[in-house]
Amino acid sequence: MALKFFNTMGRKLEEFVPLEQGHVRMYTCGPTVYNYPHIGNYRTFVFEDILRRYLKFKGYKVIQIMNLTDIDDKTINGSQKEGIPLAKFTERYTKAFFEDLDALRIERAEHYPKATEFIYEMVRLVKKLIEKGYAYKSEGSIYFDITKFKEYGKLSGLVIGELKAGARVKVDEYKKEEARDFALWKGWDATDGDVFWETEIGKGRPGWHIECSAMSMKLIGETFDIHTGGVDLIFPHHENEIAQSESATGKQFVRFWLHSEHLKIEGQKMAKSLGNFYTLRELTAMRYDPIAVRYLLLSAHYRAQLNFTFEGLQQAASSVGRLRSFAERAESIATTNTYSIKLQQLTDSMFRKFEEAMDTDLDTPVALAALFDYIRDANRILDAAKISEDNKQHMLDALHKIDSVLSVMKTSEEKISPEIQELIKKRDQARAKKDWALADRIRNEISKEGFVVQDTPAGTRVRRESR
Ligand SMILES: [Zn+2]
Repeated sequence: MALKFFNTMGRKLEEFVPLEQGHVRMYTCGPTVYNYPHIGNYRTFVFEDILRRYLKFKGYKVIQIMNLTDIDDKTINGSQKEGIPLAKFTERYTKAFFEDLDALRIERAEHYPKATEFIYEMVRLVKKLIEKGYAYKSEGSIYFDITKFKEYGKLSGLVIGELKAGARVKVDEYKKEEARDFALWKGWDATDGDVFWETEIGKGRPGWHIECSAMSMKLIGETFDIHTGGVDLIFPHHENEIAQSESATGKQFVRFWLHSEHLKIEGQKMAKSLGNFYTLRELTAMRYDPIAVRYLLLSAHYRAQLNFTFEGLQQAASSVGRLRSFAERAESIATTNTYSIKLQQLTDSMFRKFEEAMDTDLDTPVALAALFDYIRDANRILDAAKISEDNKQHMLDALHKIDSVLSVMKTSEEKISPEIQELIKKRDQARAKKDWALADRIRNEISKEGFVVQDTPAGTRVRRESR
C-alpha cells in the first residue's frame, strides 16, 4: 500500500514519495528553550516521533533536523528577568528538554542546530532578500515586504488584499488579522541589552522566522521532503518561512507540510491562568508513567483535537499495561510441535491492518484498534491450545516491528536496580525449591519498592507500578 499524508499545502491527502529514493529529509520546528515545555508541546513532538519511526518502519533512511530556538523575544526576556546571560538561561531549558524526550522515548533527531550558531547563514539570506528586492530597511531593522511575494498566504489561506502598504510588525508572534511586513533582522535597541551581533546588515539580531529558513536550507537543501509543527505555527511562522525561502531561491521550499492539532485539557484550552497547565515533570512527580503520557498523546489521530483528562491518562496507563502483559506472555510462552494456522493468519491480518492504517496519514486510533482486537483473539487461542516455536517467533516479530513505531510495550529495564534484580533472582531460587513463604516475603519486598510482580513460566517478572 502507498503511504499517504495530508498535506496542509493544498489541504489534501497525497501519496508520499521522497525526492531522493529511499531517503527522507525532514525539518521539525523545535522548542524555544525559555521554559519547561507543556504536554501540548509534547503532543507535537510525539507525533513527529511517530512520523519519523514509521518512515523508518517503511524502510526509509531519515534525516531529521530539529532546531533549538535559543534567541528570540521570549528567551531574551526570560534571561533578563533572571539577570543571567542568555546562553546560561537557554542551556538549562535545553537540558530539561532532552531529559523529557528520553522519558517519552522520543528518538533523537540527526541534528539539533542552535539558532545562535547559524547567524552567518541568516545574515546571508537576509542580504539576498534585500538584493532581490523582497526586503527593505526601516529604522535600523530589516523587513520582508509581503506584497512582493505573490503567493503569500498560500499555506494558511490568508488573503492579503486589504493590507496597508508598509505596515510592519517587529514582534515574532502575531495573528492572521495582523498580517503585515515582518522583521527579518531586528536592529539593536536598549531592551536587547548585550544580545546583538555586529554584521554587514547592521547591529542586531535575527527575527524568529528567518532562523528556520536559514538552518533548514543549509542542512537539508533548498527543497526538502517534510516540514512539521503544531497547527499554531501555520501562521505566521510557516507562512513566513515559505515567503523568505522561496523568494530567495525561486524554488519550492517544502513538498509536504504536516501539522498536529491542539491539545485541550479537561475540555478547555490550556492556560496558566486556568491552572490546567502541565509540564511532563509535573505529571511524573504525580507518579504518572511517562509512557502512559506517550500512549495518550499518540492514541488520537494527530489531526484531531485531543482532550487530555486524568481519567484518560489512567485509561492510557491500563492500555499500556495490557499491551505489556501480552508482550510478556508472548515472550514467555512455552511451545510444542503443534503449529496453529489460525494464530499465524490472525497475526498476519493484524499486521496488515496496522500498516494500512498507518499508511493512511498515520491513523493511530485504527492501528491500535487492530492491535487490541488481536490481543483479545490471540489470548483466546493461547488459552485453548499450545503453539509452535514458529508461531511464537512470528508473533514476537510482529509485536517487535510494531513497537519500533509505538515504543510503549517494552518495559524500561534500566529502572530496575541491581538490588531489585538480586531479589528477583532469590525469589526464583525460592520458588524452584518450593519455598513459597520465602517467595511471598520477597514479593512483598519488591512490591514495596513500587513494582508489580508477576509469575511467568520464565520466572519472576517485574514492572514499575503506575497509576
Ligand atoms: Zn520553525
